[in-house]
Amino acid sequence: MLISKAQIIVKGETGGEGHEARQLLKIVYEEMPDCPRCSAPMSVRDHFWRVLIGMDGVRREMRPRRLVCTCETCALHTRPQRNLPQGVVPRRQYSAEVHQAIAEGRRDVTCADNTIHRIYRWLLGLAAFVLSCGLFMPDCENVNEVAGRMQSPLECLRNIAGGGENWLARVVGRAAGRGGGLHWV
Ligand SMILES: [Zn+2]
Repeated sequence: MLISKAQIIVKGETGGEGHEARQLLKIVYEEMPDCPRCSAPMSVRDHFWRVLIGMDGVRREMRPRRLVCTCETCALHTRPQRNLPQGVVPRRQYSAEVHQAIAEGRRDVTCADNTIHRIYRWLLGLAAFVLSCGLFMPDCENVNEVAGRMQSPLECLRNIAGGGENWLARVVGRAAGRGGGLHWV
């Protein structure tokens, strides 16, 4: 699993007689990753369909690419790797933006209460994994206490990732493929 910087653009609806209308997204990749095994350049093998649900609750489909290593002796030359755009969480239909909104306890999330609860529990697992395996260097000023109280794991996660607009997507990008309890290989 590889995650790359990309723009995700709403392409509109397609469909026709006998077909249900589908909301489509277009992915414009901004970079081509090097092979995680041998650092050789990678090339596009094919594409696959993927669902993404954003803050508006609309289910849309996209076509991320699969990459292979260009080095013929590398194990990944014959084992295509999924290349998700940043903002998509491996094995999760809801976008990184929705996950981040729930991590921050925001109320403008459109999904059902049980879905929010399920995502919140998943986020706690992510926080436990990332905080324990040192993917981010802790910032001593932020991590320990805020105004005399202990921070929640999700507040810690946000702080060590540096906060800002896309902090959860950055955490996911760095944690993807690292294993742990998340099996994102
Ligand atoms: Zn390789």
